[in-house]
Amino acid sequence: SGKAGMTLIPAWLSAPLAAHRATYVRAGVAALFTNVFALATALYSMTVYNRIVPNNALSSLIALSIGMGLVLIFDFSMRMLRGWFVDVAGRDVDAALADAIFARLVAMRLADRQGSSGAMAGLLREVEVVRELFASATLVALVDIPFILLFLLVIALIGGPLVLVPLAMLPLVVLAALAIQPGLDRLAGEAQGQGFTRQGVMVETIAGLETVKAGRAGPMLAARWQSAVASGAEAALGSRLLSAFAVQFATSAQAIAYVGTVLWGVFLIADGSITSGTLIAVSILSGRAVAPLTQVAGLLTRLSASRMALRRLDGFMMMPGEQALANPVRRSTLEGAIELKGVSFAYPGSNAAVLKDVSFRIAPGERVAIVGRVGSGKSTIARLILGLYQPTEGQVLVDGADVRQLHPDDLRRGIGSMLQDVTLFSGSIRSNITLDDPAIDDAELLRLAKVSGVQDFAGQIPNGLDLVLADRGEGLSGGQRQAIAIARALAGRPPVIIADEPTSAMDIQSENALVARLEAELAGRSFVLVTHRQAMLKLVDRIIILDAGRIVAQGPRDDVLRSLAVGGQAS
Ligand code: ATP
Ligand code: MG
Repeated sequence: SGKAGMTLIPAWLSAPLAAHRATYVRAGVAALFTNVFALATALYSMTVYNRIVPNNALSSLIALSIGMGLVLIFDFSMRMLRGWFVDVAGRDVDAALADAIFARLVAMRLADRQGSSGAMAGLLREVEVVRELFASATLVALVDIPFILLFLLVIALIGGPLVLVPLAMLPLVVLAALAIQPGLDRLAGEAQGQGFTRQGVMVETIAGLETVKAGRAGPMLAARWQSAVASGAEAALGSRLLSAFAVQFATSAQAIAYVGTVLWGVFLIADGSITSGTLIAVSILSGRAVAPLTQVAGLLTRLSASRMALRRLDGFMMMPGEQALANPVRRSTLEGAIELKGVSFAYPGSNAAVLKDVSFRIAPGERVAIVGRVGSGKSTIARLILGLYQPTEGQVLVDGADVRQLHPDDLRRGIGSMLQDVTLFSGSIRSNITLDDPAIDDAELLRLAKVSGVQDFAGQIPNGLDLVLADRGEGLSGGQRQAIAIARALAGRPPVIIADEPTSAMDIQSENALVARLEAELAGRSFVLVTHRQAMLKLVDRIIILDAGRIVAQGPRDDVLRSLAVGGQAS
């Protein structure tokens, strides 16, 4: 059963739960007390009706009631404690799960990314569902189940055959809850799919609000939203209806157990086999015996949604991640030699080869430009060197080691990179450049700001580097964002710099100034530049021309430029 438990609850979930084992045991002990107290209440009523009322024994009643009062106070504390234990554990489990999921997200391979950003963001909601089930008071309701036996036993002892009434109700409640499971499963699947579409539309709309407005994309997105909402609402309504059935059925069963006991009990009193005090105790206990199953019915209705969430989360948590290798090659510093050996590549999920048998070599300290037409695969080469994707065929070597074998941290610490789609984060310009790395002090920050041209605009306002940007760097112009990205790529003085269209949004003057400053900055470093801009080519020694994923020409810069000029004239 240990093994079955493992497959039911994956390790990433069971570990934080197991860490709180003691808490759940404590909650169980508290549950033991509350159940025994429930017995006490029933027995109190029985004693009062059987002994005190016939004898008018008021002094005994007072003593008994004082005892009962103490029991109630204690019971209250126990129930509070039980809830508190479980909530504290729930909070910790929540935090542990959220951390684990985020770590996984950051470590995941880009090739494994599926669905929209909204769908990915939906994962965190799944954590909520799973946590609710495994760490909440609902699950702890299961603790009460063994006590059903205790109640039935006591009922049988004092009420004899009356125990058959709650006993008959129990399977009915369980059957009702089980009967709706297939329907719930189906609806949970539907609701989940719809929920993701909804979240996807929402995230996409918020992120592109400017374009949505300017391009009047609103109606298209609104239509997508409405269809997602409508079908999602349908599924949610269906599953609510089914759950309500199971829960209400259980509640009714509890009432039926009570009424049935009273009904039959009257006959038993008539033929003298029980007293009315016993009947009162038994009717209280039979309701109490069925009650835990009401909770279980509620739990079962949540089970399908939780199972679905758990499966999705588990799929996510079990993805190999970038550090799949048990023993990655560690390099604290890079020399800066880069080599592509017969590299072919197609993006995951597509068959179209984006790169075809690409081979070239960049020696440490060499500066190379990759040029070519739109969609020829330049940015893809940059991504492969950074290890963001793995080649389908061939090898990408950095310092002679396959990037698949290098630890991604080492690889990317050694390669300062600026990608084509500059992404800034909310926060100050300073933290966008340093990424809050304490090793980069103010003097270095200022130097980076000067080299990249950030100082040109940030220097015009006091504390310009502490200017706080909104999401994704909103509040800056395209060229300014590129300057910040260049500063970030240079931060930490990595021996290799990869820049993908670093100046595509800059004016000629800014670009020329940048080229002049980078000239000194890049001395002795390997430099891979992707560009469409002539002026930037001053920075490189060599040019590689790419066309439709193949290298069509490469050589020293001036030779290539000369042959291009000749070719251009010829055509
Ligand atoms: P540009 O000059 O426009 O930046 P590029 O040379 O950088 O072009 P790449 O971005 O490398 O071109 O893209 C090469 C090809 O790969 C394109 O045909 C593009 O459709 C495809 N592609 C790019 N990124 C992806 C991706 N994430 N998934 C699938 N295909 C992609
Ligand atoms: Mg590109």
